[in-house]
Amino acid sequence: MNPLLDFAGLPRFDEIKPEHVAPAIDRLLAAGRDALEAATRAHPAWDEFVAPLEDANERLGRAWGQIAHLHAVMDSPALREAYNAALPRVSQYWTELGQNLQLFQKYKELARSAGFAALSPARQKIVDNALRDFRLGGAELPLEKKQRYAEIQEELAKLSAKFSENVLDATNAFSLIVENQERLSGIPADVLQAAHEAAQKDGRRGWKFTLHMPSYLPVLQYADDRTLRETLYRESATRASEFGKPEWDNSFNIRRIVELRRELAALLGYASYAEVSLEPKMAQSPAQVLGFLDDLARHARPFAEKDAAELRSFAKSELKIEELQAWDVPYASEKLRAQRYAFSDQEVKQYLPEEVVLQGLFRVAQALYQITIVPSKAPVWHEDVRFFEIRDAGGATVGHFYIDLYARDTKRGGAWMDDAITRRRKGSEIQTPVAHLNCNFSRPVGGKPALFTHDEVLTLFHEFGHGLHHLLTRIEDLGVSGINGVEWDAVELPSQFMENFAWEWDVLRHMTRHVDTGQPLPKQLFEKMLAAKNFQSGLAMLRQIEFAVFDMRLHSEFDPASGRTAQRLLEEVRDRIAVLKPPAYNRFANSFSHIFAGGYAAGYYSYKWAEVLSADAYSFFEENGILDARAGQRFRDEILAVGGSRPAAESFRAFRGREPRVDALLRHNGMIAA
Ligand SMILES: [Zn+2]
Repeated sequence: MNPLLDFAGLPRFDEIKPEHVAPAIDRLLAAGRDALEAATRAHPAWDEFVAPLEDANERLGRAWGQIAHLHAVMDSPALREAYNAALPRVSQYWTELGQNLQLFQKYKELARSAGFAALSPARQKIVDNALRDFRLGGAELPLEKKQRYAEIQEELAKLSAKFSENVLDATNAFSLIVENQERLSGIPADVLQAAHEAAQKDGRRGWKFTLHMPSYLPVLQYADDRTLRETLYRESATRASEFGKPEWDNSFNIRRIVELRRELAALLGYASYAEVSLEPKMAQSPAQVLGFLDDLARHARPFAEKDAAELRSFAKSELKIEELQAWDVPYASEKLRAQRYAFSDQEVKQYLPEEVVLQGLFRVAQALYQITIVPSKAPVWHEDVRFFEIRDAGGATVGHFYIDLYARDTKRGGAWMDDAITRRRKGSEIQTPVAHLNCNFSRPVGGKPALFTHDEVLTLFHEFGHGLHHLLTRIEDLGVSGINGVEWDAVELPSQFMENFAWEWDVLRHMTRHVDTGQPLPKQLFEKMLAAKNFQSGLAMLRQIEFAVFDMRLHSEFDPASGRTAQRLLEEVRDRIAVLKPPAYNRFANSFSHIFAGGYAAGYYSYKWAEVLSADAYSFFEENGILDARAGQRFRDEILAVGGSRPAAESFRAFRGREPRVDALLRHNGMIAA
C-alpha cells in the first residue's frame, strides 16, 4: 500500500519513496475533484457541503505536506523530480477550487442561509474566509481572465520552486578546502573539528568550509584571515546571481515573479500586488506599513549610527582595519563585543548542550500551560530526528512534534515550523495535531553533544512558539485550527513571544550545563550577555527594516517594465536606510527566498509588526510574573487556543485588555531615549 495514502495515524516517513508521489497525488486529486463535484450539487449546509470537501482536501494537503516536507529536509534528485512533476498539478487543483463559481455560489448561499447564524463563530469565520479567498482567487473574473489567472499562478509556483532550488544548488556548489593551517587562526576548535571531518568525508586533507551557516558564520565572525572571510562573504553574497552559473541566476526569476504578481493584481482590480497581499492581513494598506516602518526606522537610526561609528573606530584603532568592509563587520563586531563584554558566543555555547536546552525549553511550556512533554516514537526520515508527545494535566494526548535540528546537504537552509496534522473533530473523535520543527544547527562533533549558540537557542524557542500555536489550539475545525487562518502579520506573535523567555535568568539558569565541567552558566556571564543583548540593536533593526521596505516597495510601486531593476530598487532603499553599505556586487535579493519563494511577498514587515505585538504581550508577564501560570493560561486561552477563529487584533485586545503599544519593543531593544 502507498504510505502517502494512509491517513490512519502518523506519516510513514520511513517508507515514502519518490515513486509513491505520482500515484498518490493522482488518486487524491481525483478524489478531490469528485468531492468538489458532489459539493457543487449538495445542499448548502455545513455537514452536506463543507465537511466532505474539507475531508478530501485535508487528505490531499496532508499527503502533499509530507512530500513537500521531505523535499525540504531530505532532498534527492529522484524526489525533486517527482515533486516538481506533481507541483503544477497540485497548484492547478487549488486554483480550480478557488475559481469554481458553483462552489463560490454555494458558499454565498450558505452565508445567506438561516443555518449560518447557528454555526459556531469558527465555522462562520471559515465561510467568510472562503468568500474572501474566492474573490482574491479570481472566482469573479470573466472566463478569459480566469484562464490567465490560472496560468499566472502555475508559472509563479514553478518560478518560486526554481528560485529556492537555485539558492540551494548555488549554496551547495561552493566549498573551500584549506590545507594551510596558518589560515585558520581565530576559528574556534569545534568549527575546525567539523571542517576537518567534512574534508575527511570527501577523502581530502585539511579543512572544508561551505556556505551553510554553521560553517560560514564562524569563519566570518572569527577568522583572522581577512582574505578567507572575503572569499566566503563574496561567494555567499553573490549566490544565484549573474556572477555564478547562468542556470542558477535568479535575476530573471525575480523580474518575472514581480511582473506576474503585478499582472495578477491588475486582473483582480487592485492597484498593486501589495494591496492583494494585505487584504487578508492585519495591516490595512501599503502606506500604513511604510509609515510604520518609517517610524521604527526613525527611532532606530540614531542608535544604528552610533553602533556603526563605534565599530569603525574600534576596527581602525584595535584591528588596524582602515576601511571597514562587509566581511569585516561580523568579525569586528565579535571582537568589539568580546572586548566590551568579555565573552564570546563560543564561550556561552559550551553551557548550552542540546539535551539541557531542550529540557529548559520544555520546562517553560510546561510551567506556562500546565502540560508535560515526553519522548515518543514515530517513523522518521533521518536518524537525527526526535519525536515528542504533549500531554495535558490529566495525561491525555494534546499533540506531537518532530524536531530535526542539524544542518545537512539535503536540507534547505534556515529554521521553520510546519504543520503535519491539524487538530479537528472527526465525528466523536478529536484528531490531535502534529508539528515539525526544523533547524540548521551544528551536529555533535568529537564525541560531544551538540552545542548551541544563544542565538540558536533563540531560534529554537521561536520555532517552538510557532509549534505551540499549532499544537495548543482548542479549535475543532480545520480551516481556523492552530496556525490555520491566522493573519500573516500576526503569525509571528507566539514565536517571537517565546524568544523572551530565553533571556530570563530564571529560565536560562535551568537550561545550562557546561559540556566539560557540568557547571551551570555563571550569573556574571549572564549579566554580560544581558548587557550585550542590545549590542548593535540599532543596526540590526535597520537591517530588517531595509528588507521590509524593499519588499513593500517592490510589490507596491516598482514596475520592471520601467527598465529599473529590483537590484536598483534595493540600492535606493539601502541609500535611504542602511548605515553600513554592502559592496556593489552584493546580490542579497537573489537569495531572498522569504519573498520570492516563501510566501512573505509584501509581508516581510510582519516580523517587526508582530514583534510589537509580542513584546507588548510579554510585558504582561513582566508585570505578573515570568512563569505565572495564570498569565500563561490567559495567553493560551486568548491567543494560542483560538487560532484563526477570530481577528488577531481582537485576540490581542482580549489578552492585553487594550490596543498594542510600541513601548515594550523599544524598551526591550534598549531604544528609550534618555
Ligand atoms: Zn517565525
